[in-house]
Amino acid sequence: MHDLAGLRALVTGGASGIGLATARLLAARGAEVAVLDLNPGGLEAPLLGFTADVSDDASVRAGVAAAVQRLGGLDVLVNNAGIGAVGTVADNPDQEWQRVLGVNVLGLVRTTRAALPHLRASERAAIVNTCSIAATAGLPQRALYSASKGAVLSLTLAMAADHVREGIRVNCVNPGTADTPWVGRLLDTAADPEAERAALNARQPMGRLVTAEEVAAAIVYLASPAAASVTGTALAVDGGMQGLRLRPT
Ligand code: NAD
Repeated sequence: MHDLAGLRALVTGGASGIGLATARLLAARGAEVAVLDLNPGGLEAPLLGFTADVSDDASVRAGVAAAVQRLGGLDVLVNNAGIGAVGTVADNPDQEWQRVLGVNVLGLVRTTRAALPHLRASERAAIVNTCSIAATAGLPQRALYSASKGAVLSLTLAMAADHVREGIRVNCVNPGTADTPWVGRLLDTAADPEAERAALNARQPMGRLVTAEEVAAAIVYLASPAAASVTGTALAVDGGMQGLRLRPT
């Protein structure tokens, strides 16, 4: 893997889970890393924390400006902040659709819009979006969440096309179920969280969840000069969930 010394990176939702693992790995490889999060308190050095809510345009513009000023420019944007939603298409009212799409889709749009002028000035510009296998998998009880990640996948491709001649690469990762505080919170709502975790592991092709660090490694690869000719791709880090058919049809 390339040395990322001097690379200036901004990670949204970087205070927890996949985003935090990504910020840490980028920093360990020598990048200078700013984290934009609702709650960036408690980040260890050398990570730089900035408070912003990606569902609010003014907050994003202020957060990106402050982070870029501190970094002295921007080479890499990781659009990772996201929230979940459960239910069929009929289960959530408009307000909930607007709230989730406002974070998962418009949050990405707002952050990208604020970051683009700075990325255009970079010689090694890259955007990596955290998508999900939900974008293409047809998961039950995930209509709103899947729609939001379907939009992230489409935006990844559209943005890659729009900015390829400007030298800005755009890719996404599609994690399967990753062992992050998010999944921990979901399991905690079960009557028996440990039994639920065991059942969840058993449903995975590899018999275990993906780790945040494994997803981070894919994000950092796509963000790095090692992927200089890679744009408009979705890299699944899902333990085989999407591609494998373990039972004969
Ligand atoms: P997490 O809840 O552990 O971390 C999410 C982070 O995003 C938190 O630090 C939170 O404060 C921040 N955040 C949430 N809303 C925000 C907002 N409005 N503005 C700024 N920051 C905000 O979650 P995670 O599991 O690490 O998920 C990260 C990303 O990975 C999400 O986009 C999620 O959709 C995606 N993903 C997760 C899984 C999984 O199984 N964990 C699977 C596929 C995709």
